Amino acid sequence: MPTSLAGATALVQRLVDEAHHTVFFGGAGVSTESGIPDFRSQDGLYRQEYDYPPETILSRGFFRAHPDEFYRFHRTRVVHMDAKPGPAHLALAALERAGRLDGVITQNIDGLHQAAGSRRVIELHGSIWHSHCGTCGRVFEGLDAIMGPEPVPLCPCGEVIEPDVVLYEDPLDADVIDAAIDLITSADLMIIGGTSLVVYPAAGLVDFFRGDHLVVINRDGSAPGHHRAQTHVITESIGAVLGGLRVG
Ligand code: ZN
Repeated sequence: MPTSLAGATALVQRLVDEAHHTVFFGGAGVSTESGIPDFRSQDGLYRQEYDYPPETILSRGFFRAHPDEFYRFHRTRVVHMDAKPGPAHLALAALERAGRLDGVITQNIDGLHQAAGSRRVIELHGSIWHSHCGTCGRVFEGLDAIMGPEPVPLCPCGEVIEPDVVLYEDPLDADVIDAAIDLITSADLMIIGGTSLVVYPAAGLVDFFRGDHLVVINRDGSAPGHHRAQTHVITESIGAVLGGLRVG
């Protein structure tokens, strides 16, 4: 394990330089550096304001039963309209532009990779930036359709609009999973950032990696096990490590 930020950046630089196909897999920690809190670690704060824990509010059953309470939470705690891409987002977009990164797989729903300029972004849990009507199928791009002023946003057909995000109790989209597996199986370097990858089914995706080097950049030092790849654990800031890479 590198013992300094400079050592960590040098290690990742060397591995990226040696790799032919690099894939990045990111979680909440990528966006917390852009000021988007990870609700899983903020449970206590919400209990003062909401009668249910976030995991309950952000479930399919709760959405159906209490769309008004769901949207109160979604609009204020999940959607952060003013968030800007951080150094990690920008570095990954630059790597992709330079032909050094095949794509990004993310558990985040904030759209910040695309805002930074990344083109191939696989969003395992969907995106806050588009929605649809589950009844008539109408599609809504952007946030205007769901942000109010009504307590519950309604489609012109009269039904509740649903954000295209994966809620608790929802399965992941099979086509999205397949696209993620394609990226991972063709990569010889996989960088995991801002997630301990302990939440299944996303956690199982790392098993498809066949390369030699797995880099895990995670503040708490936790890392998924792997059957063959050498795993490098880095506990520095992901923005600082990736932001320090030379691209080109
Ligand atoms: Zn409709």
